Amino acid sequence: MQTTVVKVDENCIKSGDMTEAGRIIREGGLVAFPTETVYGLGGDALNPGASRKIYAAKGRPSDNPLIVHIYRMEDLYRIAEDVSDSAVKLAGKFWPGPLTMIFKKKDAVPAETTGGLDTVAVRMPSNKIAAEFIRAAGGFIAAPSANLSGRPSPTEASHVVEDMTGRIDMIIDGGPSVIGLESTIVDMTEPVPMILRPGYVTGKMVRETVGDVSYDPAVFGEVNEGMRPKAPGMKYRHYAPKGELTIIKGDRDAVIRYMKDALDKGLKEGHRVGIIATEETRDNYGNATLLMNMGARDDEDEIARHLYAVLRRCDEEDIDLIYSEDFSTPRIGQAIMNRLIKAAGHSLVEV
Ligand code: AMP
Ligand code: MG
Repeated sequence: MQTTVVKVDENCIKSGDMTEAGRIIREGGLVAFPTETVYGLGGDALNPGASRKIYAAKGRPSDNPLIVHIYRMEDLYRIAEDVSDSAVKLAGKFWPGPLTMIFKKKDAVPAETTGGLDTVAVRMPSNKIAAEFIRAAGGFIAAPSANLSGRPSPTEASHVVEDMTGRIDMIIDGGPSVIGLESTIVDMTEPVPMILRPGYVTGKMVRETVGDVSYDPAVFGEVNEGMRPKAPGMKYRHYAPKGELTIIKGDRDAVIRYMKDALDKGLKEGHRVGIIATEETRDNYGNATLLMNMGARDDEDEIARHLYAVLRRCDEEDIDLIYSEDFSTPRIGQAIMNRLIKAAGHSLVEV
């Protein structure tokens, strides 16, 4: 399959490009598009064949449900049942934006899109190109992140080109994602809204809007064998680089000491060692095969934005051993660490 890449400027969107992308979707094809969180791999959410194609293109298990993207509030009622006052409040506050809500689904949404569940996940992205694209495509775009299953999510069009060339019809290049982490997922079918996946919109922000919030236990830790997490995607190996990643957590000086020792040892054993550090600590690791700077420790937004590109660089440079400092920062630290710990396959050393 020939994959066309189209560059689009968010401040000057050409209607011809959107018409073409919309035509592909209406004909059952696939288009990758930018959002403020990560790049999405879009198909018509109401067309079961398109959802099947998404799973095939990603190499993703088909019991892992897709998020349906809309561009205006009234469309929510065409696909979701029992939209509560709390949901309307959350939408009022965080839509368009990086929040996904789960509702009981209406029949219009095929089982292929929801991984066989009777619920549907819905989000309204704030990226202007995404909104125009969804509109041109008929209003309902099913989209997971536009990476091959198991790889880090794409935060630039070049990441999508790497993973999806030859597998989809079109890639819309809208520049780098401004947030760089997937949306917060809140299950609105629970008596108290339940966070299934942490993201840029924090639990505290949800609580302040609707009064109360709960968490799926899977957010905090290891998912036990046999336990079925409420966000099915959370059970799969995710976000992972090819090298073996370990996170080091603790007092800053102790972390640096541990990382330097591990780095020296790895190099001596002939490994290609990657170090994920910050502006403040990077000078300690000058001999690393690949030294990656996530940004200043107190700039959480910058750290979130860099995470996936950094994990991908490890693959590009054939790094086989990776040590990362931890990023349990106050606001979006929970979301950053949730992704990093999964990428590390739960390999975390406390020093
Ligand atoms: P992404 O990983 O960014 O492609 O987002 C899709 C994720 O949303 C899935 O892996 C699930 O974890 C979650 N999700 C989507 N639909 C549902 C649903 N109906 N119920 C629970 N989680 C869902
Ligand atoms: Mg994903």
